[in-house]
Amino acid sequence: MMTNDVPYKTYLTESELPTAWYNLRADMKVKPAPLLNPATLQPVTAEELEHVFCSELVKQELDDTTPFIPIPDEVQKFYRMFRPSPLIRAYFLERALGTPARIYYKFEGNNTSGSHKLNSAVAQAYYAKAQGLKGVTTETGAGQWGTALSMACAFFGLDCQVFMVKCSYEQKPFRREVMRTYGADVTPSPSMKTKVGRAINEAHPGTTGSLGCAISEAVEAAVSQDGYRYVLGSVLAQVLLHQSIIGLEARTAFGKLGVKPDTIIGCAGGGSNLGGLIAPFMGEKLRGEADYRIIAVEPASCPSLTRGRYAYDFCDTGKVCPLQKMYTLGHDFIPSANHAGGLRYHGMSATLSELYAQGMMEARAVEQTSVFRAAEQFARVEGILPAPESSHAIRVAIDEALRCKAEGKAETILFGLTGTGYFDMVAYQKFNDGEMNDYIPTDEELAASFAKLPQA
Ligand SMILES: *Cc1c(COP(=O)(O)O)cnc(C)c1O
Repeated sequence: MMTNDVPYKTYLTESELPTAWYNLRADMKVKPAPLLNPATLQPVTAEELEHVFCSELVKQELDDTTPFIPIPDEVQKFYRMFRPSPLIRAYFLERALGTPARIYYKFEGNNTSGSHKLNSAVAQAYYAKAQGLKGVTTETGAGQWGTALSMACAFFGLDCQVFMVKCSYEQKPFRREVMRTYGADVTPSPSMKTKVGRAINEAHPGTTGSLGCAISEAVEAAVSQDGYRYVLGSVLAQVLLHQSIIGLEARTAFGKLGVKPDTIIGCAGGGSNLGGLIAPFMGEKLRGEADYRIIAVEPASCPSLTRGRYAYDFCDTGKVCPLQKMYTLGHDFIPSANHAGGLRYHGMSATLSELYAQGMMEARAVEQTSVFRAAEQFARVEGILPAPESSHAIRVAIDEALRCKAEGKAETILFGLTGTGYFDMVAYQKFNDGEMNDYIPTDEELAASFAKLPQA
């Protein structure tokens, strides 16, 4: 039965919007391990990073003590074109499940890029422009980050060069065209344009690419052109910082409703949306002010938290990026080609990895057919066609709501609905045709990949 104790959607007024991002690391007693220079195995310096990244973003990356970092005025203005995002009470999903649980989701798909990635893209493009750069290079996997960055670069008048993982480039021609419409130059990766791309093509003929390969190509393209820097859409601490806007808005909206979530669930690829959604809640937990159950959801085919090693590893296949201590499947790990559901990255944000190692959050791995079943169920009752990545969080939110039903508990569940799935129809088609299957890497496959971890 639908009760209207809270509205279906809760928005914030413009004056309630956050004016500073929240840096979760400031409240961690044990900080994430420092990034290491792969040549010297010493912590990387700002000077070394500034060859690759924009100066202001390097400062943010290395700052693990300042809790609040002001959002530049221009970025706040851009945010107003698509923020605040609504906090939605999933009344129809609750009714369909017959659960006493109260389910909420924070919907980040209401912008042309179709995901939360625009939150960080606009910040990164702003800092690149402010530094007087000509342009930026990046990688994109499923295409959402490249799309978001293209939009942000168009707005600030920056050149945007995107290396797109080859299998997505071929599967998602419309994503590519959106990027080109916003003025970006899109290259399938591994390409023959870079040294590292040529080497990967030679070592793995016919490869359909991976995020790790595309990152290596984009970094090489940035350092070999004057006036260019590399930007990354996930994994890094700066990206989690920008994504904290999601959690800050959610916490304010819950405050207006007089509600507190018990469980917070997010999908985890590189960890940026989850890190952003949980940031202020985890901050309360770290400061001992409140307790929340936090669940990261990852694909069973790319299970970095649940089956990975917590070790220093390369962020990219070409080993050009700094080493990061994180839960990793190994920088050479490429998820099986039948994996359609996004979240293909081999590692995990260092901040989330450290919090997971400290026991501050849980992780669960789910198989893609069950993820698409959850997506279908959600779409049919809540209306929104979810991105496959987001549907990992839906899967576990539904499982938790069904547990509440079995236990007769009216818990409050919040999950991150990171985006829409309109460009993922090839994956949906496979699911609809009954041709989607699951692949779980064997222990032997993972062991072979772990054997290549650097000795740091
Ligand atoms: C990129 C993406 C993700 C995963 O990336 P994170 O950095 O782990 O958040 C999840 N959902 C959508 C819709 C995405 O585009």
